[in-house]
Amino acid sequence: TTPKTTFKRVLLKISGEALMGPQGYGLHPPTVMRIAREVQSVQALGVEVCMVIGGGNIFRGLQGSAQGMERTTADYMGMLATVMNALAMQSALEELNVFTRVISAIRMDEVAEPYIRRRAVRHLEKKRVCIFAAGTGNPYFTTDTAATLRANEMNCEAIFKGTKVDGVYDKDPMKHDDAVRYDTVSYDDCLAKRLGVMDASAIALARDNNLPIIVFSLDEPGGFRGILAGEGTYTRVQ
Ligand code: UDP
Repeated sequence: TTPKTTFKRVLLKISGEALMGPQGYGLHPPTVMRIAREVQSVQALGVEVCMVIGGGNIFRGLQGSAQGMERTTADYMGMLATVMNALAMQSALEELNVFTRVISAIRMDEVAEPYIRRRAVRHLEKKRVCIFAAGTGNPYFTTDTAATLRANEMNCEAIFKGTKVDGVYDKDPMKHDDAVRYDTVSYDDCLAKRLGVMDASAIALARDNNLPIIVFSLDEPGGFRGILAGEGTYTRVQ
């Protein structure tokens, strides 16, 4: 029997680095497929799923500009990197017979649909996974902000931020054995204590629209589905 879920529509945000697997760079197809299966299992619950994938596994604007490149140009390169990741995820999901649309904030009609809000909502209603690519389409932003923006526009009930750890800790759990995980934490504490959930503009945008952020481990098999079915450990930023 399919467990009941309290969510009807969610947005999954993952970093580009989540797709590079054991490599230090780029795309690792088995890892992309593993995450696609996690998404498939949630979609199978009847939940409508949006996705935003970062681009840090390929290119980050700040790194480019630190090496002398013009910042906005470097940021556009970062946005293009997110399109590559989105296409890789689309390909993996389609292999699993999950219908998807890649929707780009920068027009490239041969490759992806342009972003038209009502059209994206319709795709979700038809149970297609919408992968929002090219961030917000603007330099000086991040895909965390893009995720928060799209989640608001699509009326998602929460953002699911998949990370390497199972929530938000008072200090880095990779470095400190005595780090303590929060069950819930306020947006303002995230900002004031710089807890590193998402960048400040993304957290503020979530706060101002009462959009909860669920931070969970993407490395836990079945973790995403588990949380939607009411199980597992995670931190809820609210
Ligand atoms: N980016 C941007 N505007 C956006 C989203 C992303 O300019 O709305 C650029 C920015 O240069 C960023 C890069 O795309 O460094 C990759 O995105 P991000 O760093 O958020 O990826 P992640 O860290 O999640 O992999």
